Amino acid sequence: MKLSDTKKGYSFKLAAFSGEALFQSLDKDLQDFIFQFGSAYKLTYQELRQVSEIAIDLKMWGDISVVDRLNLITSRYPAGNGNSKKHILKELQDYWHTLKTKPSDYSSNAPKVKSVVRKVTDNTDDHEIFGPCPVASEKTVCCNLITIDAVQGCSLGCSYCSIQTFYTDGAVAVESNLEDKLDQIELDPMKNYHIGSGQSSDSLAMGNRGGVLDAQLGFARKNPNIILEFKTKSKEVDYFLTSELSPNIFISWSLNPQVIIDHEEHFTASLKQRIG
Ligand code: SF4
Repeated sequence: MKLSDTKKGYSFKLAAFSGEALFQSLDKDLQDFIFQFGSAYKLTYQELRQVSEIAIDLKMWGDISVVDRLNLITSRYPAGNGNSKKHILKELQDYWHTLKTKPSDYSSNAPKVKSVVRKVTDNTDDHEIFGPCPVASEKTVCCNLITIDAVQGCSLGCSYCSIQTFYTDGAVAVESNLEDKLDQIELDPMKNYHIGSGQSSDSLAMGNRGGVLDAQLGFARKNPNIILEFKTKSKEVDYFLTSELSPNIFISWSLNPQVIIDHEEHFTASLKQRIG
C-alpha cells in the first residue's frame, strides 16, 4: 500500500468521526487539535472518542485543557515511535481517572464556562414522541413515568448531563408537529397517568418554540385523567403566567445548593430563582 493510500484511509476515518455528536459538541479549536493529534498518532475511532470525552470532562471540570495536557505528555513521547501512542493515552487516561475519582472541591470560585452556541432546528421526523421513559425495563427499579419527547437536546449545560452528546451536531431539535402527534394518542379513560415532559431535554428551556407548550397544555386539557409534569432548571415560566392552565399540570424544579449550581449546572436558574 502506498503512503498516500494510508493517508487517504485515515482521512476517511477522521471524516467519519467528525459526524459524531460528541465531537460536534466541541469547539472548533478543540476539534482541530483532536484531528491533528489523531493524525499524528493514528488514533482508532474508539481512541478519538475517548480523547473527545476526556476533552469535554476536563473542560466541564474547569481543569487544564486537553490541549495543554496532551502537549505536556507528548513532549516526552515523539510521534513515530511505535509505543508512544500507548503511553500517551495511558497517561491521559490515568490523569482523567485521578480527577474523576477525586472528591469535588467547591471551595474555590466556580470555573467560567463559555456558553456553547447550539443550532436550533425544527424536527419534522416521524419519530415517537410518547412512551415509557427509555430507562424503564424489567431490570431497572423505575417510577414507570411516561414521557413526552417534545425537544431533543438542551441549551443548558449541566456538567453531569449526557444529553448534549446524544444528538448530531450538538443541535437542539424542536418537534414541529407535536400537536398532531399528541392528538393521535388514545389513553384509557379509566386509568390515571403521570406524564413527564422533557424526556431528552429541559421541559421549559426552549419556551413555546414550535408551539410545543401550546400542544402539551392542549393535551392536558383534553385528558383530565393525566397529571402532566414539566421538569426544569430554567426560569422560563412567562408562557405559563399568561396562559390558561388546567389544574392537572405542574412545574417542578430540581434543587441543589447554590454552590453546586454555580459549579455544575451552567446557564441554569439560580436556587433563589427556582424557589422564589
Ligand atoms: S437542564 Fe436537564 S437536560 Fe439540560 S443540561 Fe441540565 S440536566 Fe441536562
